[in-house]
Amino acid sequence: MTPEGKTPELQTWKQIAEFLGVSIRTAQEWHDKSGLPVYKLEGTFRADPAELTAWVERHKQPKEQPVAPLPPPEPGPPTTPPSSNNNGAGLLAKLAIATFLLICLGSVVVWKFWPVKDPPANLRVEGSDLIVMNHKGEDLWRYTFPYPLAQALYSRPERIQHNAKFLDLDKDGRVEVLFTYHPVNDSDVGAPLYCFSETGQVKWKFTPGEAVRNDNQAFSNIYFVNWFSINQKNEVLIGSNHVSGYPYQIMGLTSQGKDIDGGYWHPGHLLRRLLLDLDRDGSEELIAGGVNNAYQQATLVVLDPNLLHGSARVPEGSPLRILNQGTPPEKAVVLFPRSCITEKFEPFNRVAMMRGSAELMEIQVSQTHVLEGPYLIYQLNAQLEVTALSVSGGFETRHKELEAEGKLDHKFTPSELDRLKKITVIRK
Ligand SMILES: [Zn+2]
Repeated sequence: MTPEGKTPELQTWKQIAEFLGVSIRTAQEWHDKSGLPVYKLEGTFRADPAELTAWVERHKQPKEQPVAPLPPPEPGPPTTPPSSNNNGAGLLAKLAIATFLLICLGSVVVWKFWPVKDPPANLRVEGSDLIVMNHKGEDLWRYTFPYPLAQALYSRPERIQHNAKFLDLDKDGRVEVLFTYHPVNDSDVGAPLYCFSETGQVKWKFTPGEAVRNDNQAFSNIYFVNWFSINQKNEVLIGSNHVSGYPYQIMGLTSQGKDIDGGYWHPGHLLRRLLLDLDRDGSEELIAGGVNNAYQQATLVVLDPNLLHGSARVPEGSPLRILNQGTPPEKAVVLFPRSCITEKFEPFNRVAMMRGSAELMEIQVSQTHVLEGPYLIYQLNAQLEVTALSVSGGFETRHKELEAEGKLDHKFTPSELDRLKKITVIRK
């Protein structure tokens, strides 16, 4: 027996993969490329289910793009009228009962004859099936995919919100369902985005990525849709990563699923994003955050959603530039300085979280690949200037530990903090 409330530790890749609802290969790739918290202890692998769940949430459910809340539930039809009591009920009681019955009758009439529309509003997955429901939880239709779905990615409301949106995308007066299909074998077949009609027909399907290459290597065409956002013009902006974690593609589609501009290619990943009108010209910019492997630094890219094409900016002569995709389109590229901890122990720092408004963006930059590891929070204004920088308690603690272990040769001082404030902004 395990102590109450404590889930037992997972000790093999098989257990970890089953817990996550993905293949062993995928779990290992998540570990290698994206820091899935799995530890090697005395020769065996260990993972804490709570940590895995937190990791999945952070990687699959960025909080910066909440979808509209579900519509409030409507009152259902009345069931049984109250039993009347003639003994001493009195006029008042009778009046109350009569009023109640009238309300009940009214509800029945409204419920039966009012043109209540119950469009798709929620979903669940079972095996290879997507089951779409209305807001009352009643099944509307079912779609069967070729492979079983990775259950864990649809197991909670916030995960469903990340992987699905219910909206009238093409303004035909009917609600479409946008849905990212993550099969259990996504590392073999990828994870595409579907647009279903209100009644469950496939309106269009977007398969992300293509076989691209840089000077060092060629990449297969297996990509996962990682996030999608709808902009003011009802275009669908989609971020997708290659099965190996990078490169990353950001694509813009019309509401009809047509490619707008060919796609933007980035040598790293851009797992976080915000849509904000930074330059106040009335249309939103896409601000995507993650890692640029060519700079080995945490990065933000500011993109015009109408110009999602080309190959990301990299240092002059970098072999990691994605080839044959055109010139860099970014309106601005922000690079965050690597801290001494990153410098010493990590390949790069990375943007782990973004939130806020055009006036004040908060960018959390992790200094290690460990989810709960040390991080810095930058506050940026619309001009991409740092207005504040705060350091996590974990950062200072880790710094002190590394000093004590003789792995860092200096104390954390205000001048080090000042150095970390100096972000690089490259404008077009
Ligand atoms: Zn330091």
